[in-house]
Amino acid sequence: MPSKRISEKQIEQLIQELHDLAYNLWRSWNPAAQRIFQELSPFFWEDSNHNAVEVMSWISGPELKGRLQNPDFFSRVDNVCRSYRAYMKEKSTWGSKNAASLKNAPVAYFSAEFGLHESLRIYSGGLGILAGDHTKSASDLGLPLIGLSIFYRQGYFRQQTSRDGWQQELYPTFDPQRLPVRPVLDKKGNRVLCSVPIGNTNVDFQAWAVEVGRVKVYLLDTNLPQNSQFYRDLSAHVYGGDQNNRIGQEILLGIGGVRLLRKLGIMPSIFHMNEGHSAFLTLELLREQLQLKKQLAEAQAFVKSHCVFTTHTPVPAGHDRFDRSLMEANLGPFAAGLGLSIDQLMSYGRVHPDDAGEQFTMTVLALKMCRAANGVSELHGRTSREMWKDLYPETPASKVPIGHVTNGVHITGWTSPTASQFWTVHLGPKWIDKFRDPKYWHAALQSKKISDQDLWALRTSLRRELVEFARKRLRDQNLRHNPDDVGLFDSVLSPDVLTIGFARRFATYKRAPLLFRDLGWAIRVLTDKERPVQIIFAGKAHPRDEAGKHYIQEIINIARRVDLFGRVVFIEDYDINVARYLVSGADVWLNTPRRPMEACGTSGMKAMMHGGLNLSTMDGWWREAFDGHNGWKIGEDTTASTDQLQDDLDAASLRAVLENQVIPLYYDRGKDNIPHNWLKRMRHAMTSLIPIFNTDRMVAEYTKNYYLPQTGKKR
Ligand SMILES: *Cc1c(COP(=O)(O)O)cnc(C)c1O
Repeated sequence: MPSKRISEKQIEQLIQELHDLAYNLWRSWNPAAQRIFQELSPFFWEDSNHNAVEVMSWISGPELKGRLQNPDFFSRVDNVCRSYRAYMKEKSTWGSKNAASLKNAPVAYFSAEFGLHESLRIYSGGLGILAGDHTKSASDLGLPLIGLSIFYRQGYFRQQTSRDGWQQELYPTFDPQRLPVRPVLDKKGNRVLCSVPIGNTNVDFQAWAVEVGRVKVYLLDTNLPQNSQFYRDLSAHVYGGDQNNRIGQEILLGIGGVRLLRKLGIMPSIFHMNEGHSAFLTLELLREQLQLKKQLAEAQAFVKSHCVFTTHTPVPAGHDRFDRSLMEANLGPFAAGLGLSIDQLMSYGRVHPDDAGEQFTMTVLALKMCRAANGVSELHGRTSREMWKDLYPETPASKVPIGHVTNGVHITGWTSPTASQFWTVHLGPKWIDKFRDPKYWHAALQSKKISDQDLWALRTSLRRELVEFARKRLRDQNLRHNPDDVGLFDSVLSPDVLTIGFARRFATYKRAPLLFRDLGWAIRVLTDKERPVQIIFAGKAHPRDEAGKHYIQEIINIARRVDLFGRVVFIEDYDINVARYLVSGADVWLNTPRRPMEACGTSGMKAMMHGGLNLSTMDGWWREAFDGHNGWKIGEDTTASTDQLQDDLDAASLRAVLENQVIPLYYDRGKDNIPHNWLKRMRHAMTSLIPIFNTDRMVAEYTKNYYLPQTGKKR
């Protein structure tokens, strides 16, 4: 470009826009925007886990001005800012056409965790990632939605492992000034302050807003000097404390969330409870109605008509339950204000209202106080109907009013920059608007458009990116224990070897060590000279989950074996960034939940944009998605009589499928050394999965079947 002079004013204006853009997470699903912040400071970009606010804080005004004097950089920044402005201003959206009635009465979406960005560690796993992806798709679709959660100032934990492979939890404190969050202010510019009653204490809280494209997520925060230390720490950790801390957090989220909305003058038409943690919001709504002098029955009917509930937990033990004494201590005064005795209050959370021995279950409260409920996959819907059928004694289990909406992932957010560029080069930028169209993907994936050579080149680059990322992380991990062994991990893993990824929370039902049940077999197969296999693990166990930590230790010990060294690795501190490398680099995404414990599972969906193939038990989404040709299944669509038997059967099936199908197909190469039959399966997987298992489809389904005023009356 000939150097056209860029005026001082243009630069000043662009700097302002860049600061705004740093605060909006839209940038995280726009590769061009990501690139700009990365280029501004490659060091701080990596060091801050891709936090643009942090990057901007390290760059002085004069430097920014200087950088923007470069016409090429200026015009790229200018283009990104233009796209951003156009996105934010777009009037003609899916939402404006399909959900116009929500415009002034949005959906309030409550979730105890939000996985929005790797730099904002207020999530623990799949539930949070789902909430984040839901929000991003709501923004893309132009659906009026507001998120509510908690600002956990020490987040979940940072994971390290000790010399003997035991998980260590670290809790660094975040500085909100350095995160993409801003304080919620009133019209006069003062911080908005609200309070919630916890027992006899009024606990004050403030709020932080995260901009997620066109959507805002409000995070409640009790860390204020006027609160006692006990309550300042209430919001410190994601699922961190004891039962007393848990109930306090849930009062904050549910009751506090409604109070914040009211303070901001927001009148949602729907309150969506993403899991039962936020179900106390129904009691606050009830209080509001009773204050209007309504009768209890009428008030309750009103609340019900405004609430919907998504359950995520297929095991009874996984649901939040509180003792009567805990409820009395924390919610006694609040209930009294509603004119409810403790026994009346307890009855809202009991399957059998008068059973004095029954605890208060958040899911039961949510089910009783919502107009419609759902599980997150077809099988999970069925499991949930069975699990809660006693709540509906007049109804056969199959007619229990719990439906299902199968989860998805936010496509552009989960597509790695390399893959995103690949699709744009081959299909033009339009793919971003068209991925929901099955015809489009079918046509796009014909070999006329994208050759086997091109597809294999993509897989090869993505695998190398993962291998290099893993080596760097392993080197850093190792340096902690063996400062002298500098080069040990420089050549582990290989960009040419069939790569299996396994990363998720180390909950025991996910059975991370299943592949190693027959260790001799694993050693033989992974280290085969002609057809080797490598496997990369990552994942955190909940701090109180000893069994999960033992699984991590088991994997680490296997990875340290001399006869498997470099074929099995464990990457510490799993988060959204690690996930992005893993789901894009792995050829095979392994998932081994014990059926039917995985409500849905979403990590396997993130692999689909990168050509990763799923190998999974017939649980959650995969039993809906698998058609015989778009990946592989482990075991059958049945549940064995005991866990032991199930594990034996699944482990045997996993070994057989890997050895007889997956590995031979991967190493079945043409003269050009390309696995054409593997690529055929990849094309079919992408064609059949991408248009369905995305959050645009999911949010549209929620809107049509749950959010709109005329919906969800029954199920
Ligand atoms: C996608 C994702 C999950 C959920 O994975 P599942 O396999 O569905 O359990 C958990 N954690 C992170 C960081 C993720 O990105």
